[in-house]
Amino acid sequence: MPKAIIIGAGIAGIATAIRLAVQGCQVEIFEANSYPGGKLTEFEQDGFRFDAGPSLFTMPRYVDELFELAGKHPKDFFIYQKLNKVCQYFYEDGTQLTAYADAERFVEEVQNTTGESVTSVRKYLDNSADIYNVTNHVFLERSLHQLKNFLRSDILKSVFRFGKIDAFRTMHQANAGFFKDDRMVQFYDRYATYNGSNPYQAPATLNVIPHLEQHFGAYFPQGGMHSITTSLVKLAEYLGVKFNYNTPVSQLLVNGYKLTGAVVNGSIVYADIMVSNMDVWFTYHKLLKGHEHLFPRRILAQERSSSALIFYWGISREFKELDLHNIFFSTDYKAEFDLIWKDKTISNDPTIYLNISSKYKPDDAPEGCENWFTMINVPANTGQDWDTLIATAREDILRKLTRILGQDIGSLIVSESVLDPRGIESKTSSYQGSLYGTSSNNQFAAFLRHANRSGKVDGLYFCGGSVHPGGGIPLCLLSAKIVADWIKQKGPKTS
Ligand code: FAD
Repeated sequence: MPKAIIIGAGIAGIATAIRLAVQGCQVEIFEANSYPGGKLTEFEQDGFRFDAGPSLFTMPRYVDELFELAGKHPKDFFIYQKLNKVCQYFYEDGTQLTAYADAERFVEEVQNTTGESVTSVRKYLDNSADIYNVTNHVFLERSLHQLKNFLRSDILKSVFRFGKIDAFRTMHQANAGFFKDDRMVQFYDRYATYNGSNPYQAPATLNVIPHLEQHFGAYFPQGGMHSITTSLVKLAEYLGVKFNYNTPVSQLLVNGYKLTGAVVNGSIVYADIMVSNMDVWFTYHKLLKGHEHLFPRRILAQERSSSALIFYWGISREFKELDLHNIFFSTDYKAEFDLIWKDKTISNDPTIYLNISSKYKPDDAPEGCENWFTMINVPANTGQDWDTLIATAREDILRKLTRILGQDIGSLIVSESVLDPRGIESKTSSYQGSLYGTSSNNQFAAFLRHANRSGKVDGLYFCGGSVHPGGGIPLCLLSAKIVADWIKQKGPKTS
């Protein structure tokens, strides 16, 4: 039985372990932390439970697929519900807009709220679906680094329709050309942040993202986001995957261009296959230090995605006007993104994302209270004075929420903790604390993301948000599929 070692128990590492175990490998995971999940983890504080990282769950079928592969019924392990309201939006001019999951209800809401016609929103969503249909097979579900994938008839058909993907305008240019109402432009520009990019630079191809949310839907796992991790760990353990916690891999051993082993707790471990779920930048710079001739320099030099500043607040009352997902937009979106991407700092009027899981899972907060995950987009960590930036941002956020909600929010905070790019980097080894690996701020980004296999080191594979096809839970789960398919085709050489 071939042996596979996985470095890191992030969601992609766990999914890869499940797939390789189903393919007949003996799988062992080495995880630096004392817990699985990486960014997809949770914590408790003063009677409040918080999902620490991801809060928006889309494309649940990629999770279900893992249970089905193992011959299990997904619902026996993992239960989730579709949201009727995806997100509640608050604009600075007082407009409130509800993004209903039902497309017809949503287009009517947009027409009633902004005057943008039902027909134009429908047309926009059809365009988003068209981009999905062209890009899905090419950019997401398969490796971009295997020539044979481009020779498949379905892929060739997609390639001939590439004009549809609108790669030579920015998202903002396309959205501003489409909608008359600035609020709708801002609404759709925001989707760039779903993979940590800038709508004023990212190609309009990313206008595919609204289709993923508005067509396939947004979901809430019954046990909170962290139950994605716990249910998949349970499945992996059932399949015989061995998890080792508090066990960082400190070095990869290579002989010429062949991977020969890894150093774990001072001992050498051997395997036929090694998959790194560690950020690809750190995999090279830490684990392959001294082998710089093996580094894909151009790929590692790509700009990182944005990071986040999160205040986890226990709030001593409930707000009926808020939902699970809420957005409080800034007045000047362009200025906000210029500050993040050009000046590498934070706006005094940031767009605030507020997630309250206790709306759907009441035991996440004491009775009559709510757990507020309050997040703003911030630049990746390049050595900014974060303590000063955090103190200012806290005041700006509280002032804005207090004004819009008509309540002194600061006085309602009964419990608090903060996560900033430094913490994201140190807790999950994500270079510069970026949330989604590299940014998608140019039309070549998809091609400049690291492949799921090393081009130089035989036996080394990669999964997770820093490699193809990119960050976010659905794409991380797809990276696991691509790695497992690649290993299946190549067939591991047994030692
Ligand atoms: P990671 O979660 O990065 O985990 C990597 C693991 O490898 C870690 O456990 C780490 O400890 C381990 N590791 C690193 N180095 C070593 C080593 N040397 N030895 C052993 N182990 C090692 N995505 C969404 O889909 N929806 C969202 O709403 C969303 N919001 C987000 C909000 C925040 C605040 C953050 C941080 C992320 C968000 N994301 C969201 C992105 C999503 O969380 C990530 O893309 C995804 O979880 C990354 O998973 P991964 O498998 O790449 O590994």
